Amino acid sequence: MITLQNVKKIYKSKTGSVTAVDGVNLDIKQGEIFGIIGYSGAGKSSLIRLLNGLEIPTEGSISVAGHQITSAKGNKLRKARQEISMIFQHFNLLWSRTVSENIEFPLEIIGVPKKERLRRVDELVKLVGLEGREKAYPSQLSGGQKQRVGIARALASNPKVLLCDEATSALDPQTTDSILDLLVDINERLGLTIVLITHEMHVIRKICHRVAVMEDGKIVEQGQVLEVFRKP
Ligand code: ADP
Ligand code: ADP
Repeated sequence: MITLQNVKKIYKSKTGSVTAVDGVNLDIKQGEIFGIIGYSGAGKSSLIRLLNGLEIPTEGSISVAGHQITSAKGNKLRKARQEISMIFQHFNLLWSRTVSENIEFPLEIIGVPKKERLRRVDELVKLVGLEGREKAYPSQLSGGQKQRVGIARALASNPKVLLCDEATSALDPQTTDSILDLLVDINERLGLTIVLITHEMHVIRKICHRVAVMEDGKIVEQGQVLEVFRKP
């Protein structure tokens, strides 16, 4: 489902260059929940942004859901992005729009007719457990509810891959667990492949099938979660 071959990302500036991703190889299977863990500055955000074409690799090749992200442009890149959705630490919601309107937004962009959009929003609201909150604005929601909107919006275009960028880092432990449960539910029900980056071991232990440990832009270890992090 996702293959990275010798991927490098070097940021160049007047003052020098930073190698954020340094020769990464990964092979993530369909239906997997794959975690990437590492300290701040390890290169996790750069790596996940490479997966949906927000960043272009300096070297190497990236294929996601059958799309050669590295060389995709224009319509091809747009098509690929519909199949690769993302959720964020700070939710990135539209603050002047309601829950329903936030979820509807990506469907408007891709030109889905109104009736079909409303049907789909209804389905997604139920899927993420936000019934009754459709007309609320993001500022009226708890952190967990905001992330449920983020998840529903990400699923609107029926993606094959969901990328999660520190999706629970702004939430308290109990809310974190309820969002992680929702991600597992979606993974099982929709067969969606999930790639998440986190600095929290708890997140990896609770939901990931496999994990890669990132340090200084490199994957220093990877495997089944129980093999990589044996409990003492
Ligand atoms: P993480 O998500 O693990 O904290 P990042 O991918 O954000 O890691 O950062 C990895 C390295 O790349 C850091 O040294 C960071 O300062 C640098 N970096 C990240 N984004 C940029 C950018 N847009 N321009 C220059 N350097 C960057
Ligand atoms: P959290 O509770 O997780 O910190 P917030 O609700 O504070 O999340 O907001 C997350 C991000 O959205 C922040 O970057 C914040 O600046 C921005 N934000 C919050 N409220 C608004 C708003 N009313 N209009 C625009 N941006 C906002």
